[in-house]
Amino acid sequence: MARPVKKTAAQKTWKLTYDRFDPEKENLREALCTLGNGYVGTRGAVQETTATGVHYPGTYIAGVFNAMPTDIAGRTIINEDFVNCPNWLMLNYRIEDGPWFNRMKVRVLSWKMDLNMRKGILSRRLRWQDDQGRITLVEDHRLVSMADPHLCALRCTITPENYSGRIMIRSGIDGLVLNRGVERYKQLISKHLEPSQHGSFGADGVFLQMQTIQSKIQITEAQRTLVFHNGEQLKPEMRVILHGRERIIQEFALQAQQGQKYSIEKLVSIYTSRDHGVSDSCTLCQEKAAGVASFDSLYKPHQAKWRALWKRYDIQLDGEAFVQQVLRLHTFHLLQSASTYNEDIDAGLPARGLHGEAYRGHIFWDQLYSFPFYNLRSPEITRALLMYRYRRLGAAKEYARQHGYKGAMYPWQSASTGEETTQIIHLNPMSGTWGPDYSSLQRHVSIAVAYNVWTYYIISGDRNFLDRYGAEMIFEIALFWSSIAQVDPQTGRYGINGVMGPDEFHEKYPGANKGGINNNAYTNIMVVWLIEKALELMAILTKEDLNALMVKVGIDEEEIQRWRLIVKKMMVPMEKDGLIHQFEGYMDLKELDWDDYRARYENIHRVDRILKAEGLSPDSYKVAKQADTLLLFYLLNEDELNRILKNLGYPYKKDMLKRNYDYYITRTSHGSTLSLIVHAYLAHLLGDNEQFMAFFRQTLESDINDIQGGTTKEGIHVGVMGGSINLLFQCFAGLQILEDRIALRPFLPQEWKKIHFDFRYKDIWFQVVISRKRVVVRAAPLYEISLLPSRSIPVVIKGKNHSLTPGKPLTVPL
Ligand code: BGC
Repeated sequence: MARPVKKTAAQKTWKLTYDRFDPEKENLREALCTLGNGYVGTRGAVQETTATGVHYPGTYIAGVFNAMPTDIAGRTIINEDFVNCPNWLMLNYRIEDGPWFNRMKVRVLSWKMDLNMRKGILSRRLRWQDDQGRITLVEDHRLVSMADPHLCALRCTITPENYSGRIMIRSGIDGLVLNRGVERYKQLISKHLEPSQHGSFGADGVFLQMQTIQSKIQITEAQRTLVFHNGEQLKPEMRVILHGRERIIQEFALQAQQGQKYSIEKLVSIYTSRDHGVSDSCTLCQEKAAGVASFDSLYKPHQAKWRALWKRYDIQLDGEAFVQQVLRLHTFHLLQSASTYNEDIDAGLPARGLHGEAYRGHIFWDQLYSFPFYNLRSPEITRALLMYRYRRLGAAKEYARQHGYKGAMYPWQSASTGEETTQIIHLNPMSGTWGPDYSSLQRHVSIAVAYNVWTYYIISGDRNFLDRYGAEMIFEIALFWSSIAQVDPQTGRYGINGVMGPDEFHEKYPGANKGGINNNAYTNIMVVWLIEKALELMAILTKEDLNALMVKVGIDEEEIQRWRLIVKKMMVPMEKDGLIHQFEGYMDLKELDWDDYRARYENIHRVDRILKAEGLSPDSYKVAKQADTLLLFYLLNEDELNRILKNLGYPYKKDMLKRNYDYYITRTSHGSTLSLIVHAYLAHLLGDNEQFMAFFRQTLESDINDIQGGTTKEGIHVGVMGGSINLLFQCFAGLQILEDRIALRPFLPQEWKKIHFDFRYKDIWFQVVISRKRVVVRAAPLYEISLLPSRSIPVVIKGKNHSLTPGKPLTVPL
């Protein structure tokens, strides 16, 4: 007799399972159970509810923003939001004339939700009993197709366990949604949609088209609701109900027999007027939904696509089940936040994924941390996301011009047009007051754009991108930095004033009435790196392309001379012993009594808000939200930093990393999870494995356990998710991609036996298996037909040179 198979620990690492309903944490679960495909993301809210204090259904479409004015604190501010689109999940049921199902009002006998990451399916099993003792079993499966970005589906199977009778079903599309997912934005205008069209089609379909109020994007969702019983389709009569013009519902009755299963399938299509090849999205949407036969017909290609993705992206770990599970969770959400579909949809990578409304879906510098994830497996995704920046190069040039600079200055926060969308005032939730927001002075975002272009080029080898787009972005950004840098006639050194570093707590000098600090070391050194790359590019491009670009961008000999001077004469505030000052004047700030704050407050991640609420200012203290100076050691390798500093005439000390790490770590609150990535990596470089593992574990815990106490429910953190996977490559595998070779320097903690992963460098797929005793590396061509490099590939393992013959495994004992 077949016995139920017990789930092994290994199977569980593919799942996120919730078997207890916790209203306090329901929003967090919804964010973590979001399903998406790069085009659309739908939070894992249950289908029977609209937004309440407990639940928050949200559907977001990449690139769909809308800007609205709100009068607040005596000013009118324009807020560009990531639009919460109509909720396609809406489905509810009632027995006879009883109330519609509401889990708060019935007896829930059992409840379990499973996110199956391998299959890309969210499922729920719910048994409930009404006040007449009638027990109903509800089993759901939901998907957002990875095989076709415009399709989603929900199957809800209802079994009346101990009764027969009429069950009424309501299945609809709800356009009466608001952007109310983030508590601190509640004072801002939250209605972004107005009705456009609606109607029904065929025997079982309805559609709703809404339009964003300012950006005039039409969003159409069409659904068909089918009912199956014993594999046969039933044809209940559907009644269409409208609520104004913003909600459309199909209602029908089922004569249900005790113990029988009835599957209600919602087959949904989504299009917007931004999509390619769309003239009339209403018709297209209906045709698309009409073409779907059943949930299963969507499920099969969806699963096949996930299987293909996991083949390349899964990192298999024989060691700790929790680490394995979270690596999969992070991979899963990154693949849902951006995919190859981005090649068709002009959208950037929002810092909080397609999972919620935090930071209004804006695009920041966080990609610096997540792009390596895509670069090493599907560089075409990075390319698509970089094209979002290229298309906004004009806006970045205009932004620079408005501030009196040349070249391109990318905005700190970017949404639809590439104009600056950072708010000018900011609510401190601790004090409830609005204060000025200077964060747009984080000009370093442009460095991240250039860094991402360069690393994408190095890893993918995509010359076409470099020639057509990448080089132009790097030149424009270099031109901007060269124009903002001013020479000090006294010292002959170039300096950059009035900016903010990645730290963010230091917005201005204590008591100053204008924002910005001077000579942020991270910015200044990275500008040198960037201008060096711009100069290097001049030797890479063909003469014709270079000439054409120089004319287009407006770079002449004089400008090139200036660049050559900047890379030799940039000012870096630092001491002889190698301690770098975060910015000029940093050392004059006061020390914070960290012990006192730790004793008085449970959580001091956001010590800036605490200080402000106490009437003090973080500007006056040596407190950092996140790695700033230390980022230099994360982004640049020792040789690069050494060379840059030497060229500038500053000392480079062997123990410089340790000196700076020890200094800044005691002054950092890690108020951004990005900080954990940098500190983990640097602790590893310093050989402090205990601290490295502690930071690494925190990066894994950060979203699944919401370590910042309430931020993940508003959207995942793509930066820390990408960064954590990158730590696996950089630290546990010790992977370095050098221009003509790859290097590995494995490190497996005691508890781990083996890691197995694939990565792609240029046109070759590498497969790596690291165990305690050996490393095995294999190389295979990207496409079966492509020719393997005729010569062998140099691979450096633990500092020793080896040569890998494509097609044959290279085994190196450790
Ligand atoms: C961090 C920034 C980051 C932003 C968006 C902030 O809390 O300090 O560095 O870009 O979140 O994730």
